[in-house]
Amino acid sequence: MKIALFPGSFDPFTLGHLDILRSALTMFDKVIVAVGYNSAKSGFFRPDLRVRIIQDAVAGLENVEVCSYRGLTVDICKEKGASCIIRGLRTTTDFEMESVIAQANRTMAPDIQSLFIPAGHEYSFISSTVVRDVLNNGGSAKCFLPKNVDIDKYLQLRKEEE
Ligand code: ADP
Repeated sequence: MKIALFPGSFDPFTLGHLDILRSALTMFDKVIVAVGYNSAKSGFFRPDLRVRIIQDAVAGLENVEVCSYRGLTVDICKEKGASCIIRGLRTTTDFEMESVIAQANRTMAPDIQSLFIPAGHEYSFISSTVVRDVLNNGGSAKCFLPKNVDIDKYLQLRKEEE
């Protein structure tokens, strides 16, 4: 069984991420979307809410697992039996950053490959940063988010924990 890991901050998961996930699903038996976090960086949504948003976003898609992890991506790959790390590319800046990370991962874990998937042109301008800016300013970010995600519910849950 060919398993890939799609790691990211996913703060929050957007239509761009969903597009990359769909592409990856055509190539692997299973894709694990893994929310990476470290305790020093709190983020906009807490990791458990980011996981729930992704679970809503992927409802109806088969062969997807969602989890969160701390620590090295190559370690969670080994734990989950994933032989490939999926990353999406929007710009040359993404490529430059991603190739450095991929080299480091390959040096640490030669059996795990990185696979870069180019962003769909209609999604290439979408980023979690833009979504957070819109949400922080009280705007509607629905046009950037998967349709199954009720973002107002998660904004409410985020507030309740503050
Ligand atoms: P990270 O903080 O690890 O970069 P992100 O959640 O920002 O996490 O992104 C996760 C992955 O998805 C990265 O590989 C990123 O380049 C990719 N990505 C983000 N937005 C898009 C998009 N609109 N289209 C395609 N790939 C994207």
